[in-house]
Amino acid sequence: MGGSYRPLQPLVLACRTCRAPMFWAKVASTGKNIPIDAAAREDGNIVLIDHRTCTVLGPDEAAEIPGRKYQSHFVSCPDAKAWRRARGIPDSPPVTREEPPCPSPSKS
Ligand SMILES: [Zn+2]
Repeated sequence: MGGSYRPLQPLVLACRTCRAPMFWAKVASTGKNIPIDAAAREDGNIVLIDHRTCTVLGPDEAAEIPGRKYQSHFVSCPDAKAWRRARGIPDSPPVTREEPPCPSPSKS
């Protein structure tokens, strides 16, 4: 086995609604997946444990940890209301009901 270690990067996706870059990570304490802004920020309250697991810090904890932190995309997403309406965080995109294109009745 080689000794080289390549850290895995989160899989960055575009938000379903606002198209901002984000990724999913599982909160270690709850096991729930949450959307996280891809851009790290000093004042975030989420730290990554690995490329797909994170810890959400309280405000005091977050202030004590320097360096790169992340923020839930719920906070910055302009369409967060739509997410909340979907009862929290969907593990998979909710099925959108798309009207099948009706074959227009032939005009007589
Ligand atoms: Zn969004």
